[in-house]
Amino acid sequence: MSQQLRSTTLGDTLIDYTVKRSRRRRRISLTVDEQGLRVGAPLLASDHAIAAMLRQHASWVLGKLAEWQARRPPPRHWCDGDTLMLQGRVLRLAFETGPQYIQLHHDRIAVSPGLAGNADGIRATVTGWLRRQAMACFYERVAHFHPLLGVAAPLIRLSNARTRWGSCHIYGRIRLNWRLIQLPQHLIDYVVVHELAHLVEMNHSPRFWEAVARLIPDYGARRSEIRTEGHRYLLV
Ligand SMILES: [Zn+2]
Repeated sequence: MSQQLRSTTLGDTLIDYTVKRSRRRRRISLTVDEQGLRVGAPLLASDHAIAAMLRQHASWVLGKLAEWQARRPPPRHWCDGDTLMLQGRVLRLAFETGPQYIQLHHDRIAVSPGLAGNADGIRATVTGWLRRQAMACFYERVAHFHPLLGVAAPLIRLSNARTRWGSCHIYGRIRLNWRLIQLPQHLIDYVVVHELAHLVEMNHSPRFWEAVARLIPDYGARRSEIRTEGHRYLLV
């Protein structure tokens, strides 16, 4: 298997993409996600065939790239006035002298002015704080929901995954992504209940979804909301 970086012009737009050739692949495929455009191709596919495929699907590719661009969170500079999300609320980062290194006041996160200009230091301080908020919130929500599902309180661990919100392990352990704390409460609850329901049913069978629906009757709407809106929060 080999991967090559390429670029081409579609419409008026110059587009970078990667080509991954594989012995097992039978036809050319196009994927667009947060990493951009990727082409999967059979080992012997010609560059000409790939270019033709891209031309043929140019409007689809351009549309998908534009969608991902729109979903991307604004670049974060970790400076005064930057915005962050906490349980669906927008918070503003502010450098302020206070009794604590980092503190939440209403709609702003006050950070010690000593950190101003130190992007790595601010990032570590703020994400550490978000992780503590996440743990407190997840404990509270798990404590609320697990008796309703009739399962014992699981061990909770925070995950740092870029691709998923939660996972469930046998022996009563669940992992929840700390980035979930950015999302509104109803989506946090959906993920918590989803993972807890796996302690009842390890699969996604109708019985699993029945267990979820008992606690969250509108789980379908929340599930599609987290799918369309949620992933940009995974990039933080
Ligand atoms: Zn699941």
